Amino acid sequence: MSIPKICKLRVGILGATGIVGQKFIVLLQNHPWFELVSVAASEESAGKTYEKAVAGRWKQQVDIPKNVARTKVSQCDPHAMQADFVFSGLDGAVAKDIERSFAESGIPVISNTKTYRMEEDVPLLIPEINPDHIRLIDIQRKRRQWSGFIVTNPNCVAIPLAMALKPIYDAVGIQKVSVVSMQAISGAGFPGVASIDIVDNLIPYIVGEEPKVETEPLKLLGKLAAGKVKFAAFPISAQCNRVAVQDGHFLNISFTTAKKTSVERLKKLIRDFRGEPQKLKLPSAPQNPLIYLDDDFRPQPRLDRDREGGMAITIGRLRECPVFGYKMAVLGHNTIRGAAGAAILNAELLYKKGYLVRSRFS
Ligand code: NAP
Repeated sequence: MSIPKICKLRVGILGATGIVGQKFIVLLQNHPWFELVSVAASEESAGKTYEKAVAGRWKQQVDIPKNVARTKVSQCDPHAMQADFVFSGLDGAVAKDIERSFAESGIPVISNTKTYRMEEDVPLLIPEINPDHIRLIDIQRKRRQWSGFIVTNPNCVAIPLAMALKPIYDAVGIQKVSVVSMQAISGAGFPGVASIDIVDNLIPYIVGEEPKVETEPLKLLGKLAAGKVKFAAFPISAQCNRVAVQDGHFLNISFTTAKKTSVERLKKLIRDFRGEPQKLKLPSAPQNPLIYLDDDFRPQPRLDRDREGGMAITIGRLRECPVFGYKMAVLGHNTIRGAAGAAILNAELLYKKGYLVRSRFS
């Protein structure tokens, strides 16, 4: 009996030349279900080979894969890309029309950008937290008359924040949260923050960041009922800082639980947490989505950001807080779990649930 040939889905990347786009390229190499077939970026890059387009700005520790290096960069046009679906790492300022044009043309978009995240009929998805929210796709398609769809992943601070809070919220409820972030420079893209601003320094403001961190976790932890997400109802106060770290966003989270609990119980909830990707054994799923470390000097960006291929959130220093009740330190890799890896995990869930299929080019 012959072994059936596995037909991988053909994938394109919008914004393939940026920091997140580059990470998509690295993470999609040898993916068991998806094969990268096209890369697209701005008019300035379009028409060049990928290696020419990123000359001097390839920021990954591995070489550009050979098959990608010689691929011609195309414009972000659904008719120019022969893909079953696309990942988007587009600049937020240009994503709206481009992503819509793909969804309208029948090409699903798995997006990193902020543009559609908070729209009522668009899933804001972390497969460990709210896999059932993918049902919004059916409503979105019907309402917008799209044959494709858009699914988004959250902001790179909202992801570790929501993931760290999830098991606590489910077990004992949450009344309020304060979060102070120390965010890596790779979070600003390339060239990002000028070196003269960040060396020997810290910048206490990231344009547009705090409102995202204060709202997105409430949609993620919300319940889907009667076709709408009822947001979680606790306040989050965020203060976001840029620091001189290459990769890895670090968060100090203080929180008040709704029910009485203990430090030991909270640590156990974190350690025991598993979700749908672990059950389904999705290829990019970490075995332990939350890792708790007892060493008071951890987590640290340089030492802990790459745990489980950058897909795990690392937590430490969970202790009592005289003001809020509890506090903890949380770390997530911003371009992997906070961006490209998050979107790939979303695509894997959508594939398993039958939302991503071979399309018109089959
Ligand atoms: P980036 O390095 O600045 O890359 C932006 C990408 O958008 C490039 O490929 C660029 O192409 C493309 N682009 C710009 N203008 C365009 C246009 N008019 N038409 C088509 N393509 C255009 O940014 P990034 O850090 O990768 O971030 C990408 C997105 O992901 C942003 O929306 C960001 O907010 C989000 N995000 C980033 C992170 C992170 O840690 N960096 C985390 C989560 C989410 P050219 O090279 O041709 O200009």
